[in-house]
Amino acid sequence: MAQEYEVIIGMEVHAQLLTRSKMFCSCSADYVDAPPNTHVCPVCMALPGALPVINKAAVEATIRTGLALNCRIASFSVFARKNYFYPDLPKGYQISQYELPLTTDGWVEIEDDAGHPKRVRIRRAHLEEDTGKLVHMDGYSLVDLNRAGVPLLEIVTEADLRSADEAYRYLRKLRTILRYLGVSTADMEKGAMRCEANLSVRPKGQKTLGTKVEIKNLNSFKAVRDAIAYEVQRQVRILEEGGTIEQVTLGWDASRGRTFVQRTKEEAHDYRYFPEPDLLPLEVSQEWVEALRETLPELPDAKMDRFVREYGLSRKEAWIVVEEQDVAQWYEAAVRAYGAPRQVYNWLTGEIFRYLNEANVPIDEIRVTPEGLAELLRLVDDGTINRNTAKSVLQEMLATGKDARTIVEEQGLAQVSDEAALASIVEEILAAHPDEVRRYRAGKKGLFGWFVGQVMRATRGKANPDLVRKLLQERLNE
Ligand SMILES: [Zn+2]
Repeated sequence: MAQEYEVIIGMEVHAQLLTRSKMFCSCSADYVDAPPNTHVCPVCMALPGALPVINKAAVEATIRTGLALNCRIASFSVFARKNYFYPDLPKGYQISQYELPLTTDGWVEIEDDAGHPKRVRIRRAHLEEDTGKLVHMDGYSLVDLNRAGVPLLEIVTEADLRSADEAYRYLRKLRTILRYLGVSTADMEKGAMRCEANLSVRPKGQKTLGTKVEIKNLNSFKAVRDAIAYEVQRQVRILEEGGTIEQVTLGWDASRGRTFVQRTKEEAHDYRYFPEPDLLPLEVSQEWVEALRETLPELPDAKMDRFVREYGLSRKEAWIVVEEQDVAQWYEAAVRAYGAPRQVYNWLTGEIFRYLNEANVPIDEIRVTPEGLAELLRLVDDGTINRNTAKSVLQEMLATGKDARTIVEEQGLAQVSDEAALASIVEEILAAHPDEVRRYRAGKKGLFGWFVGQVMRATRGKANPDLVRKLLQERLNE
């Protein structure tokens, strides 16, 4: 029998915090579109004698995130120097947290590969500062320190993840939580959320862990999933062939779809951490923590549970609308305007999601309001238009921003429910197709749908389909 393997994964995420100023100085942290080296001062340029000051908003964002991740908030934590040299790090060290981080021992719930709820333990979430950026030119490099000192939240899990898909779901969940809190854009493609995976593989049943590798440069959700899946396969193949795994740091080459060695164990850093002498320890009172707890929004898990309870959605369905806060808000507003949560769900995740995908816009930029959808659905309920017409009216609403009633009137889309008018169209259809009528009456009942289609076509889709069926039944079964 083939040997089975177990994959052990831990994740480390860095999320830029959405504060106005940087972590230890008053420079603006909104540097993305700024010309190089314009958001800098003696502190973030590391001029001699400049002293850091802790950004309170960054501490609060970290505490709120810690609470949302079910972490313990330390009443006493310490910043530490992480020493290394790199041209984008002017001080020659990064201020981070090491032995006494601000938050520890939390968890995030995800679904495992069998669809069961599973807790991924959070070892710690601590504060640190971002580095500057190197811009590599032809034969030389330039340094931009606008990003140096932007607050970063580092979130580290225990090695609780067991597959590429679990890692993917964990990251998506984490992104949703950070966005609900408003502490980070958590936009991986723009570098506001960066991720590394620690991974090892061992034969199932083996007690000791396999050799761990680190994968860096994972800058999209797809990269995370692809890189882990690739690396698992690579390691299993080596083990099957009787080889050994080397402890290395890997990069991910998305264009070639494979990992590559960035650094071997011999080159591993020793950061010589020590407590930052320029900053006092951080003391956090219980009152402060409780005041911040009051500012938490309804978190994604709680919202999902409530949508299941109040709107009769399955957990999977609820997550589809809850994952993005704006979508959840839109959905609830539409349910309030119309009632019938199931129907609103179907229209939102069907027609409207398709439009969002095709037009590549977020829901808060579409031209249909929740109330506008409710009005459209009421036109179906009162028989003014049928469901198919409603779908094309909705497309028109999305494209033009006009309301449903205006479109129906302008284009004469109101459905034909006039029984006498429809009856005469039915007569015409039957008279024009005597063969089909004979075959139907001889027992080929499958033709019924074809007759309905003919009448709908003759009315350009506007006939009331229930009435058409009733009239056809009466005439064909005479
Ligand atoms: Zn500065």
